[in-house]
Amino acid sequence: MIKYIGLVFVCSFLLISCKSSEEFTGFSYDPPDVTNTKDKEITIQPKRIIGAGEPRVWVSNEFEGARLNDFYAVNDSMFEVFIEPENGPINNSPWYAFKVWSDTVRMAKIRIDYKDAEHRYVPKLLSRSSNDSRWKKQMELPAEYDSLTGTGTIEVLLAPEPIILSAQPLKTPSSLKDELKRRNILGREYVSIQEAGTSKMGRPIWELNITETSPGEKAPVLAIIGRQHPPEVTGYIASLLFLEELTSDTELAQKFRETFVIKAYPMINPDGVAMGHWRHNAGGIDLNRDWENFNQPETQVVRDALSPLADDDERKMFYGIDFHSTNENIFYPIDEEVETVPDNITQRWYKELLSENPDVVFNVEEFDTSSPIAKNWLYHTFGIDAVTYEVDDQIAPDTLEQVSRSAARSLMNILLDEWSKSTIEN
Ligand SMILES: [Zn+2]
Repeated sequence: MIKYIGLVFVCSFLLISCKSSEEFTGFSYDPPDVTNTKDKEITIQPKRIIGAGEPRVWVSNEFEGARLNDFYAVNDSMFEVFIEPENGPINNSPWYAFKVWSDTVRMAKIRIDYKDAEHRYVPKLLSRSSNDSRWKKQMELPAEYDSLTGTGTIEVLLAPEPIILSAQPLKTPSSLKDELKRRNILGREYVSIQEAGTSKMGRPIWELNITETSPGEKAPVLAIIGRQHPPEVTGYIASLLFLEELTSDTELAQKFRETFVIKAYPMINPDGVAMGHWRHNAGGIDLNRDWENFNQPETQVVRDALSPLADDDERKMFYGIDFHSTNENIFYPIDEEVETVPDNITQRWYKELLSENPDVVFNVEEFDTSSPIAKNWLYHTFGIDAVTYEVDDQIAPDTLEQVSRSAARSLMNILLDEWSKSTIEN
């Protein structure tokens, strides 16, 4: 065991030393061969508890969403966790999540060291009081970043009661339904939830149907897709805030539901999230490069659920949003020159969003429709406009709430307006 740990340490050190500093220049880095979406091998992290140092400090990855590949004591006060991705090459989204505790109450430094990656996410600390079994106190714990080694080091108070350190707030597949209930999305008569299909490992992929349209009437459809990439939690939270607004009691939301049908798939990579992956599903594939080949069960599930709408007399696919996170707030719309029906919704929406949130930096970058991503599949299948909606990884929770709610409201207004225009024209 000690030999193995030593070997990992030496290897990781060599890998980091040999790595060119040019390797990770951008956050949207795509590795070679990313659009070949046939299964690739992944390394399963052994689930275990590891102790190191004297008196002992312990870590565990025995929970949903965890990622920790090794742990050892560097010296009396410094410990190192080693984090590896599910496979490679992969972009720099180094997810980590582990429990840590100590036999004695003490301060300790914990260095997070990554295989072929650099520290990116500010650690989130989750704790609980000893008389309560629920994890609830969440705070950020900024790490000291070492650009030479790519590691992040935090100083933290350890005690026999475990804490959880994670790259972003833990939002896992098994908590999705509770989260939807807590946010008052589930439990309303116009909201239904069903299993659209299952992931590679057999986890449910949930589909929400939200509508108050009258039967027999032709209704436009808003499609919402999310969490293709496990660490992109701010985008996931944005999608839940959208659903809160769309299901709320406001006059606007009610009018929207009386006109539109919302079909939402807020977590389409449940295996990747549960297994603590950096980007891929259990087949080792970036799902958002599989919307042409459809080699993976998760993209097949959403395709098979939405495709029939193309020939449905009572439904008309109208607009789609695919939620993600990156290092900035940014819309990736379909290029304005590409004609969609309705056309240039995202461009119109973007202007509204800027005027209603003047204090928030929000960017836009148009793309052609050639890449095999969800947004482009929506365009190629239904001829509609769609957007990749990216939320800043480091957005403050209250800003996230403000922007998401206001964006949802302005989108409802725009879509209602576009639908009434299209029905008058026809
Ligand atoms: Zn993403």
